Amino acid sequence: MRGTLTAAAIALILALTWAVRLTLFPLADCWCCNGQGVHRSKSNPKHSRRCWWCKSTGKRWRMGRRVWDRMRQKHRDAH
Ligand SMILES: [Zn+2]
Repeated sequence: MRGTLTAAAIALILALTWAVRLTLFPLADCWCCNGQGVHRSKSNPKHSRRCWWCKSTGKRWRMGRRVWDRMRQKHRDAH
């Protein structure tokens, strides 16, 4: 019984930490171009192409944030 309570408390703390982090830092560096917005060729540094993944912004919305936004959207639609 006590173990279950501790596990629930830890899960709650983790969920809260996750929510706070999402609110404070909704944007993350793009994993595809390391936040550069462009892909540079190693053999030819002058040759670069735009990152299609983040549309050359170098930033990406965190996965959790997208789910959060979708949930809020649904909530708004329901009311
Ligand atoms: Zn990118």
